[in-house]
Parts: sequence; C-alpha cells; structure tokens
Amino acid sequence: MRARYSPEAEAYREKVQAFLAEHLPAGWRGVGRLDVAAVPGFVDGWRRILYEHGYLAPGWPRAYGGGGLSAVEQVVLAEELTRAGVPAGGANDLFGIQMLGNTLLNWGTEAQKRHYLPRALSGEDTWCQGYSEPNAGSDLGSLGCRAVLDGDQWVINGQKVWTSQGHLADHIFLLTRTNPAVPKHRGITFLLVDMRQPGVEVRPIRMISGDAEFNEVYFTDATCPRDAVVGGVDNGWSVAMTLLGYERGEAAATLPLRFRTELDRLLAMARDRGVADDPVVRQRLARCYVKVEVMRYLGLRTLTLVLAGHQPGPDGAISKLYWSEYHREVTELGVAVLGAAALTPSGRPPSSAIHSDDPGAPNSSAWWSTAFLHARAETIYSGTSEIQRNILGEMVLGLPKEPRGELRSWGEDQRRSGPAGT
Ligand SMILES: Cc1cc2nc3c(=O)[nH]c(=O)nc-3n(C[C@H](O)[C@H](O)[C@H](O)COP(=O)(O)OP(=O)(O)OC[C@H]3O[C@@H](n4cnc5c(N)ncnc54)[C@H](O)[C@@H]3O)c2cc1C
Repeated sequence: MRARYSPEAEAYREKVQAFLAEHLPAGWRGVGRLDVAAVPGFVDGWRRILYEHGYLAPGWPRAYGGGGLSAVEQVVLAEELTRAGVPAGGANDLFGIQMLGNTLLNWGTEAQKRHYLPRALSGEDTWCQGYSEPNAGSDLGSLGCRAVLDGDQWVINGQKVWTSQGHLADHIFLLTRTNPAVPKHRGITFLLVDMRQPGVEVRPIRMISGDAEFNEVYFTDATCPRDAVVGGVDNGWSVAMTLLGYERGEAAATLPLRFRTELDRLLAMARDRGVADDPVVRQRLARCYVKVEVMRYLGLRTLTLVLAGHQPGPDGAISKLYWSEYHREVTELGVAVLGAAALTPSGRPPSSAIHSDDPGAPNSSAWWSTAFLHARAETIYSGTSEIQRNILGEMVLGLPKEPRGELRSWGEDQRRSGPAGT
C-alpha cells in the first residue's frame, strides 16, 4: 500500500513549510534542544505566532477566530508542526481549544461560542478540566460535586482531583451533580466556572517524577452565572462524552511521527552504549519498531475514515489504548538500555509530563527515566486501559456488557454506601 496525498495537499504542505522556515530560528532542531527553563517562554512566543496566523484552531470556522482549513489541510499542518518539533499550541490549549472549544462548537449556544471561543484562542481565558473526583474516576457517573441554583447563579460545593495544569488556568469546565434523585448518569450538569474567586482553591499534587503538573481543586460556595450551562441542565453526561471523544481522539497522523523520532533516539542510544547487538535488546527494539509501523497504518486508516466523513466515536479507544501501552513498553526498554545509569538520572529531563517525547531532546538518563515514569500515567489519564478495553468490547465489538447492577439514583447510592470511608 502506498499512501499519497493529493497535489493540492502537497501544495499546502509547501506553504506550511515556508511559514515554518520564516518563523523558526535558523538551524532549529526541535523544542527538545532548548534548555528546560527556556521552554515555557519559547512556547508562549510560538503560540502567539500560531494565533496571529490562524493556526491555533485550524479547523474552526473563521467567524469564531479559527483558520477554516479543510480536514486534509489540518492534517498536513499537524504533520509539519510535528516534523519541525514545535507544539501546536500552549500548555492549556489541549483543554481550552481541543476539548472545550470543539465541544462548544457542538453544544454551545451562539452567545457562548461568540464569547468563549475567541477568548480561548487569544489566551485571555485559560482552561482546565474538572471531571475526576476522589470517588469518581473510571466510574465518572458517580461524581458528587454539587451545584444548586440560587436565583441567577449556581452555587458549587465539592472537590475535583488530578486537575492537570489547574495551577496555570483561570477557568474550569466542571461536571456537577444537579439532581441527586434521578439515575446517576442523568442529573449531571456541565458548567463553565471562573476560578478567580474566593470559593475556589487549587492545591498542587507532587508526582513521582518530582514535578507538580496536576492539582486538587476545592469549591466552597463558589458561583457561576445561571447561563454558564453547556447543553442544558441535567444533560451534562452527553456533553461530557462529546468532550472525551476530542480528548481521546489523539492525532492519528502525528503520533506515529513523534514516536518514530523517539525510537530513532533509542536506537542511537543502544548503539552508543554497545547493547544494540544484544539478542534480547534487538528483539525488543524490533518489537517497538513493528508497533510504531502498526500505529502508522492504524493512523492512515483513521485518517482515511475521517476524510471520508466518519465522526470519531468509541473506536477512538483503539488509538488511545495502543499508543499508551506502546509508550510504556518503549520507555521500559529505554531504562533497560541505560541499565544502572537510570538509577542516577542526570542531564536534561523531558520538558512536560504530557507528550514527553520532546522532539530533538538529548539521550540523557534523566530524560529516559523521567519519560518512563510519565508513561505510567498515560495508561491512566483520559480513561485507563481497562476502561478502553471495556469500551472496545462493548461498543465496537458488540460483546456482552459487564454487569452494572441495579440502576439507582445517585442519592440512593450515597445512602446505601454510608458515610465516606466506611
Ligand atoms: C497524569 C494524569 C492527569 C490527569 N488529568 C486529569 C484532568 O485534567 N482532569 C480530570 O478530571 N481528571 C484527570 N485525570 C484523572 C483520570 O481521568 C483518572 O485517574 C482515570 O479516569 C482513572 O480514575 P481513578 O484514578 O479514580 O482510578 P479508578 O477508577 O479508581 O481505577 C482504579 C483501577 O481499577 C480499574 N477499573 C476501574 N473500573 C473498572 C472496570 N469497570 N473494569 C475494569 N477495570 C476497572 C482501573 O482500570 C484502574 O486500574 C488525570 C490522571 C492522570 C494520571
């Protein structure tokens, strides 16, 4: 099979390459070449350039500040940004643009689209995701953060956890319990909340890598306006699922490129450390190579379906499951190739826990051992591997559903389980 783009797409690729040549420094080899401390400053400046050229939300309609690009142009742009080793946006854009922005295009009122979308693009509002709670992760429908309507505003009380980049955000999209008397997946409302108020407290959580990129967020009589609801009161579950589609639908075309570059670095490190001829290492390297190739073909298949008009759905779980399991495997091999050196990490670490493949990064022991730790989280966030397998079994393969027990209201569930901790 030979995958080829149309001549129009290739002409667009040349345009993007010319843009990159004009705006990146001479001799640029990827963000991983920068000192870690210099990365946030570079990303801020680069984000501004993308914004000014309409490349931050290339698929959104121009009326909301997007680039209005066709699907194939978006893919070509994403590929070229990846090849150049530059991000497609800033630290919180995954939440504000990819997740919330796309969800608002589906579910938002015209007023919400006109207000929130341009502000997410300009960076005036920065967003984080308030879904998970101490007792609601995989079983998200059990969430208990309460919102009660009081006159013209919602009053919010409860806790969220694992809120990535919450310390950098000033807004949070929040799943709240608004009706405890109906079955638990109903009675949930999706709210847009300004975090700059006394009732919102953000507490960082230190990770095993030593970084603190996610947080607990506490709400004590926090408020948001009555009309800050997306998709209707008690209808938040459907909105939440639309958003998860955008969260899990990882870039089919770009992930294999990123992982191939990372694998090439591992091959170089295996040679440098004299273990490339070790039969066990060779076999593990070959297995990783095959997996990246399979990912590439999987990506091409997804791309072909999307270009033919298919909307990503539960089959997005194939990609999430495959890339996150692969990344654990390849980073374990990286640590094995390093041997004892992995226990005394030195040199440049990855610049972020999310997408820690850092194009252009050096083969330091700190890089591989930290990426190894970050990869443990990748099979958990956006839904664990077990949950992805359940989705694939039940919703893609049509296998029998796992037993779910009696359908009770959230309030009844709370009464039966008794006070927390029992
Ligand atoms: C790095 C990182 C960043 C995150 N960022 C955010 C964020 O920004 N916002 C946010 O809201 N959340 C975020 N999360 C939370 C993430 O979505 C949850 O951790 C995840 O959904 C799992 O929930 P849990 O941690 O409560 O584990 P649990 O749901 O308690 O699961 C524990 C174990 O049981 C297994 N399990 C649970 N149910 C089933 C089942 N039905 N069948 C088979 N196995 C099952 C799971 O697979 C897992 O192995 C983040 C998590 C991580 C690690």
